[in-house]
Amino acid sequence: MTKSDKGTAASAALPPSGTYRHTTNPENIPGPTKPTVAILEHALHEAAFACGRGAIIGQEPNGPGLVVIPMSCKRWQCEKCAPRLARFWSRRAASAKPERFITVTADPNLHANPHAGYQAIKKAWSAFIQVWRHGRPNKPDRPGFPKHELQYMLVWELHQSGWPHAHILQRGAYIPQAFLKAFWQTRQVGSVVDIRRISTSEKAADYVVKYTGKSAAETKDFLGNHRLIQCSKKFFPTPIHTPTDSRYEGWNWAFTLASPYEVLASLLWHRQYKIASDQYPYAVDLIPEREELPLEAIIDRLDQRPIDKR
Ligand SMILES: [Zn+2]
Repeated sequence: MTKSDKGTAASAALPPSGTYRHTTNPENIPGPTKPTVAILEHALHEAAFACGRGAIIGQEPNGPGLVVIPMSCKRWQCEKCAPRLARFWSRRAASAKPERFITVTADPNLHANPHAGYQAIKKAWSAFIQVWRHGRPNKPDRPGFPKHELQYMLVWELHQSGWPHAHILQRGAYIPQAFLKAFWQTRQVGSVVDIRRISTSEKAADYVVKYTGKSAAETKDFLGNHRLIQCSKKFFPTPIHTPTDSRYEGWNWAFTLASPYEVLASLLWHRQYKIASDQYPYAVDLIPEREELPLEAIIDRLDQRPIDKR
């Protein structure tokens, strides 16, 4: 059974779209009478899951805020999600204004297999961060260096040879190539270390698109449960908005089986709303251009569309 077959089979048992308030006790939604986003999300997954089908809409109770949370799997192996994730991360990379682009590899002659190479790069990079951030006092046999600021985003890429590369966008103090290379050699990871200056934020975004673009699915298969992208805590100016953010606490929630794109198109139609923060496929925050619409009206408008067009 393919993924799309599953989606069609499940559609027969879809719950109706709707709004769930604390005054309602929905049959299809398990748990407490005022469901949280997590419960709605779970219920949508169970009942209707086909990636890109359905969205949760949240509305600030005494304010203009509106958020659309797409029901998508957000997996790099997913044909629908991979390009969206690549766009999301490239925009995000540009917003972090990285200054340098570093590529590090593992020498196949020094490691038993690509997985061992991956572990070696990972270990060496985190050791390097420690050393570089903490600095080192002068010793008679070895000159020291001061503390340095270092923020980064690392993207793994499986090379055609089957060996992993780490592509790192870095912001903070300049790292001499010779220093990083010596570190890499001392740790017996390899000797290929490339550092270049990034001229513009667009360039940084391009790098991310390039390395997540074509081989992300294969790389993610190789990595298993490990992340394709790793970042330091302060690299990005804003966090990823998740439905469980405290910012959405106490909001009213509704769901629809319309696609997230349909939901957004409907809200942006006639300039009713405008996008305040676009973190698709995670969350898209909107604010009204004129007066806000009641949640029920938003859902009703979406439900009037014929279901076979979805
Ligand atoms: Zn997906």
